[in-house]
Amino acid sequence: MIEVTNLQKSFGDLHVLKKIDFNVKPGEVVAVIGPSGSGKSTMLRSLVNLEQVSGGSIRIGGEAFVSDGKYVSAAEIKRITTRMGMVFQHFNLFPHLTVNENLELAPKVVKKESKAALKPRIADLLAKVGLSDKGDVYPANLSGGQKQRVAIARALMMNPEILLFDEPTSALDPELTGEVLRVIRKLADENMTMVIVTHEMNFARDVADRVIFMDQGEIAEEGTPEQIFGNPKLERTKAFLTRSE
Ligand code: ADP
Ligand code: MG
Repeated sequence: MIEVTNLQKSFGDLHVLKKIDFNVKPGEVVAVIGPSGSGKSTMLRSLVNLEQVSGGSIRIGGEAFVSDGKYVSAAEIKRITTRMGMVFQHFNLFPHLTVNENLELAPKVVKKESKAALKPRIADLLAKVGLSDKGDVYPANLSGGQKQRVAIARALMMNPEILLFDEPTSALDPELTGEVLRVIRKLADENMTMVIVTHEMNFARDVADRVIFMDQGEIAEEGTPEQIFGNPKLERTKAFLTRSE
């Protein structure tokens, strides 16, 4: 579903991603852990073309939108990256739009779908994230956990084949993380393909099929949750996990 080869990214002299290679299979849930500044967000943002990479290839469902650092046309990039949805740490909802309007926006603009046609999908997705009664509410009147659940529903509106999460619970008060993690777990149970950058080690251990430990712009170690959390090979993985307890 995702094939990343030799991915490199620099910001000026700062080499942020150094030859990243990884694959995600259909239905797989991959958790990405690692210290702050290790390149996790940059890697995720590169997958949806929010960052331009300096080299390497990214294929989504067999279709490359960048090969050896060369990008395909803007229209093709758009078409391929729209196969993925992304959920951010800070929700990124439009504050001047209601929940319903936030959900309608991308399908209306990108896919030219009518409001009437979108209605049942909005109802389905709000029910799925437990917010059926919030369609007419503005984001300012929602809790952080509710905002993040709206953001997940909004990403699902485009029927993505893959969902990417960048620290979806890091901006939330601890008592609100559970309601968001439960929604993500439900998606995992439905075999959604997901890459989740997270600091929630218990959640990663529980929900991920595979865990990637990133450090200093590279994938230092990867394996099953049992291997990474139970028996990490590298000292730096051990040190990170000890600090994160
Ligand atoms: P993480 O998500 O693991 O905390 P990031 O991908 O956000 O790491 O950042 C990796 C490195 O890239 C950091 O050193 C960060 O300061 C740097 N960086 C990220 N975005 C930019 C940018 N737009 N310009 C310059 N440096 C950046
Ligand atoms: Mg980050």
